[in-house]
Amino acid sequence: MLEPKTTELTNDLIEKIQQAKQFLEQASRVACFSGAGLSADSGVATFRDSETHALWSQFDPMELASPEGFADNPRRVIDWYNWRREQLSNVEPNPGHTALAKQRDLVQITQNVDDLLERAGLDTKRILHLHGTITHDHCNHCGYSEAVELSQSPSYRFCKKCHQGEMRPSVVWFGESLPDEAWRQADQLCRNIDVLMVVGTNASVYPAAGLIEIAKRHGASVVIVNTQASDASHLADIELIGKSGVILPSLLEGLQLNSF
Ligand SMILES: [Zn+2]
Repeated sequence: MLEPKTTELTNDLIEKIQQAKQFLEQASRVACFSGAGLSADSGVATFRDSETHALWSQFDPMELASPEGFADNPRRVIDWYNWRREQLSNVEPNPGHTALAKQRDLVQITQNVDDLLERAGLDTKRILHLHGTITHDHCNHCGYSEAVELSQSPSYRFCKKCHQGEMRPSVVWFGESLPDEAWRQADQLCRNIDVLMVVGTNASVYPAAGLIEIAKRHGASVVIVNTQASDASHLADIELIGKSGVILPSLLEGLQLNSF
């Protein structure tokens, strides 16, 4: 399905947003679960972008984002992440990020590895990065971690602490499990909320997408904001089709949501 170029707040959509607002107003505890669609409005590069890029299109995602790919050619993997970091350094949070960041007591469970929610002003303590974060590297031997400058990311290097391991991006690669603590907190939260907002995800990547089912099974209502119907559509109590950068500011205006 082609994505709409713009999202217009039609009468039909406005009415649905009002319905969703009522769900949120009546809820004591809410959480937000987001994916690539949230950052797409900012122009964050995705795998699809690298598929059309002159240099990177020749590589399979498994060569660029897996432990095997890193073992095979670590320089190539680091160069690819640094290309993505450079792109990320040139984009800004969009109104969707800003609307979410104004909800200071709302926990953000995100599959995004970018730092746009943080840059929109959200406290890092309120964000659970299920797939890690591209803003950090860590040693694959001792775990030593350091933040990297997005516009000047260091090239392939050994760990300066143990001198044995190699520094790699702190993102979850194909075949790797999710960070224990972030997953534990997200899972626990989704069992104890009244409404789960699901923003900009096609809900096709597991286990992360399973959080929507967990929330639903434990009695939460599900409000979806996405540019198209997704694998989670059948779980939605209300589905708002359109860009999150347009819908979220309207949906969250005047609300003070809480995850605790
Ligand atoms: Zn080390």
